[in-house]
Amino acid sequence: MNFQSRLEALRAAGRKRTLTPVDGPQGAEIVFGGRRVLNLASNNYLGLANHPTVVEAVRWGLEEWGFGAGAARLICGDARVFHQLEERLAALKGAEAALLFGSGYQCNLALLQALAPEGTVFCDRLNHASLIDGARLAGASLKVYRHADTQGLAGMMGRYGAPLTIATDGVFSMDGDLAPLPELAALARRHHALLLVDDAHGTGVLGGGRGSVHAAGLTAEDVPVQMGTLGKALGGYGAFVAGSRELVDYLIHAARGFVFTTALPPAAAAGALAALDIVASDEGAALRGRLRENRARLAAGLVALGWPVPAAPVPILPLVVGSAERAVALSRALLERGFLAPAVRPPTVPEGTSRLRLTVMSSHTPEQIDRVLAALEECRDAA
Ligand SMILES: *Cc1c(COP(=O)(O)O)cnc(C)c1O
Repeated sequence: MNFQSRLEALRAAGRKRTLTPVDGPQGAEIVFGGRRVLNLASNNYLGLANHPTVVEAVRWGLEEWGFGAGAARLICGDARVFHQLEERLAALKGAEAALLFGSGYQCNLALLQALAPEGTVFCDRLNHASLIDGARLAGASLKVYRHADTQGLAGMMGRYGAPLTIATDGVFSMDGDLAPLPELAALARRHHALLLVDDAHGTGVLGGGRGSVHAAGLTAEDVPVQMGTLGKALGGYGAFVAGSRELVDYLIHAARGFVFTTALPPAAAAGALAALDIVASDEGAALRGRLRENRARLAAGLVALGWPVPAAPVPILPLVVGSAERAVALSRALLERGFLAPAVRPPTVPEGTSRLRLTVMSSHTPEQIDRVLAALEECRDAA
């Protein structure tokens, strides 16, 4: 393979990417490439990644277990704290049981490989890449329906034989809108399909912290496979699935992305437990309240500037500008003014929908949000 010519082609298409080192924690301000900038890019929505109580719990976990788990869970890496965390996650999701995974990407690959082999997997067009890749890895027939188009999906579903799986993001990670979960649950029931909801961005944020399934008024019976991550609002690293005891028991045998990999560092589980305590507390409710206020302030300002934003109270606000070059130019103009709002381009989003993806945090101040809006007004011609 000629790497150089491939890189050249990516550069020519405006798709060249670079890694920029960050110093220090994921706060409302961040030291990015050696410069202090206002951070509009982190999924650390509630500030738990650097919350003193969470950091202290990780420190305690390190004292208790050391750093690494030493082996896969099924060998000798099954630290007791994983069981405690799984019980808490199951309760959060109203499910019987939960199972931890190394990361959300790995979890989705493992789930679909184990649950949908040789069947048909229906994916929303804007699903996270890990769901698409998981369906491919499973050797399933992958059918992509138009974004949130439950009518189109209903038409497709009748045409395929069992086993059927519907896999969807609960909150779409690059668009900040919600999946039509009640309609999807009804379709899954009617067609005897398994429904998998990836709630990476809803967990900790929506439905009082319980996520988008709960926020939609649905239960673990409606959504038998609830996936979530520990790396976004919960501020750490890792992922989980919550569902029936049988589901979890089966995955312990069948999910290769569980069986053949070293367990998480136990201290990461200790940190996640502390994060869940905060999410369930009055402090968590207050953090979510501030997050909603910040989101509302930024959304109202964007609408006033003529940028349409999704209606759902989700801390992800996409500014779709179209071409990759324009998205990069706008992002660069903002960075020059001290605002970190990375361009999101294909293959992360569909061709022609390159954007800035702005995320708000509970730790942003109203004054910081107003400065972002002023900068966007100044820079919009760059796009
Ligand atoms: C971030 C994300 C993932 C991947 O989770 P990681 O823990 O970062 O690997 C999966 N699905 C969605 C919708 C995501 O936004």
